[in-house]
Amino acid sequence: MMILDGKKTAQIRQNQLKNRVVKFETVYGRAPHLVVVLVGDFAPSEIYVRNKQLACERVGIKSTLLRLPSEISEEAFVATLKKINSDDLVDGVLVQEPLPAQLSRHLVAQTLSFDKDADCVTFEATGILWAGEAVVSPCTPMGVMNLLGHYGMSVEGLNCVVVGRSALVGKPMAALLLQANASVTVLHSQSKNVKQICRNADLVVVAAGKKKFFDRDDFKAGAVVIDVGIHREENGQIVGDVNPANLDSHLLAFTPVPGGVGPMTIDSLLHNTVLLAEKRLKERGS
Ligand code: NAP
Repeated sequence: MMILDGKKTAQIRQNQLKNRVVKFETVYGRAPHLVVVLVGDFAPSEIYVRNKQLACERVGIKSTLLRLPSEISEEAFVATLKKINSDDLVDGVLVQEPLPAQLSRHLVAQTLSFDKDADCVTFEATGILWAGEAVVSPCTPMGVMNLLGHYGMSVEGLNCVVVGRSALVGKPMAALLLQANASVTVLHSQSKNVKQICRNADLVVVAAGKKKFFDRDDFKAGAVVIDVGIHREENGQIVGDVNPANLDSHLLAFTPVPGGVGPMTIDSLLHNTVLLAEKRLKERGS
């Protein structure tokens, strides 16, 4: 079984990205700048945000963490996003999820500037993605496609199943697979015969958010399985939606958790930030 090593792949891609960052700085006199908005103090988000900032540092992207109180009003939150939109020294924005109940992804999708939308969450970006014209794509699905691409794996003509239909992962994953000429089935909590459908697939992307929900026998022999899930066991160990036991002799390829899709998601964020910075400043002619 081939292990699709996201950590190593992300490192290789980021070594190349460093050169673009240096070039950007030479031309524009500053580094590309990502703002990460963190609302409240949800502990796992603190870790995710820290990892994103460390990755930015490694490639030379400037990152700013904007902390907002969990009780912030909708009006104040929208005003803050609008202020970031109009800050010419900000190139990319990521609003860390989950958000507190009074806010929503919808609010971010309709407020954030499309040209600074580093995770492709705005309605404009979503429409362009489904039209097949995306310049930047949502970070996690884009990371999956880049990982497959790095290992020379084409999805063209494959029967692919995406388990999960969230706006963050499942839906854009389906859009990117379709764009790459796969035949795509999307499953969700109301789908019937989920595991049976998975057993017929050439490639399964699992993003159900259910710890070790899938086992070896839920996939056909020789399938490629991408595990997007992230869960923390009581002993601190990170595991995915797939139980990795005995997969070895069964699958063609598998993404480990941790070290598979996670690092590739961050890698997409870095690439999107640099691309948005290059595009905006080039189009402005400065
Ligand atoms: P989410 O918003 O909770 O969505 C989960 C999706 O799975 C929903 O569409 C849900 O269906 C579906 N689902 C739930 N139970 C199911 C079942 N038994 N059979 C089939 N489908 C089922 O989660 P998410 O944001 O997409 O994230 C999914 C997982 O990926 C989580 O573990 C998350 O932590 C992880 N994640 C990892 C990364 C990374 O970088 N590795 C990035 C983002 C997320 P309904 O729509 O019907 O509810």
